[in-house]
Amino acid sequence: MKAIRGATTVEQDTAENIKESVKTLLLTIKKENGLSEGNIVCIMFSNTSDLHSFYPAKAAREAGFFSCALYSSLEPDISGGLKKCIRVMVLAEIEKAPKHIYLNGAVNLRKDLTKKLNIAIDGPAGSGKSTISKIIASKLDILYLDTGAMYRTVALACVRSRVDCSDVASVKKVLDSSQISVKYENGMQKTLLNGEDVSDKIRTPEISMLASTVSAHECVRTAMANLQREIAAANSCVLDGRDIGTNVLPNAEHKFFLTASAEVRAERRKKENDAKGIIQPICEVLCEIKQRDEQDRTRKIAPLVKADDAIEVDTSDLSIDEVAALILGKVQEKV
Ligand code: C5P
Repeated sequence: MKAIRGATTVEQDTAENIKESVKTLLLTIKKENGLSEGNIVCIMFSNTSDLHSFYPAKAAREAGFFSCALYSSLEPDISGGLKKCIRVMVLAEIEKAPKHIYLNGAVNLRKDLTKKLNIAIDGPAGSGKSTISKIIASKLDILYLDTGAMYRTVALACVRSRVDCSDVASVKKVLDSSQISVKYENGMQKTLLNGEDVSDKIRTPEISMLASTVSAHECVRTAMANLQREIAAANSCVLDGRDIGTNVLPNAEHKFFLTASAEVRAERRKKENDAKGIIQPICEVLCEIKQRDEQDRTRKIAPLVKADDAIEVDTSDLSIDEVAALILGKVQEKV
């Protein structure tokens, strides 16, 4: 279920004006969000206290919104607030990110809903980036872009072509002949290799190491970073990776760098692997994590490093909810 917001101002406090404005607002919300009567659960209105002639909820019924629940309330006077304003919240069963609609000079009071947000969350493997990024994206109703999945997909393409991932010329050939893309289904990222959904196939320890190897090549980094910038330019999103704050989006307004001790990170990765049926002794997981960190930190191009203006969060002794609350708090402070 999504909450779609909107507002409009009314020229005069007359029944005609209120009916007309509410009708236009609701029909615009319906059209822009692809709603039908069936997926609108309820519509809530509030209006400024200078409107008396007609209830917005009644106007909604007259505008043809017959089956959903309706509710109207009066707003307290806010000094400096808009005059003759009707606000609306439509609760609807939709998957897509809601499009909030503001007409006739009305404005959204929640800046985080209108402003494009790009949140960069970088850090080493197992620092909690993906879990936290998913929560933040879901709370803010924006996309989550797992950039590591793209490097993993390049590695998978190389494995399938039986190419040595450290041989840059061969990797480039595979890269040039492969199509790597992402799509979203019910808000979940699917990573595609030549149109095939490989989201599960890229989650093996072998691909983790090879992703780190291919990601050191400039041609790979340039192609993936361009794709990431394109997605970030078109959508509000949380991007997790190694170089988002330093290289992909150096001007991102919100940057975080998550860390945790190698031991804690290895424990987390082992639990994730166990759940997927990938059984590996903890010492092996720890060894791989350390090797991958070393490779990622010491590569020449866009290495894993905290951006100067990123907020560092050590997640070793924090719960997932604590880290998410901390990041959401910092984001809200700035918007
Ligand atoms: O985050 P994940 O473990 O899926 O990333 C796999 C590998 O991809 C990392 O070890 C890193 O080498 C590479 N990567 C990168 N830049 C990013 C995201 C991932 O170099 N932005």
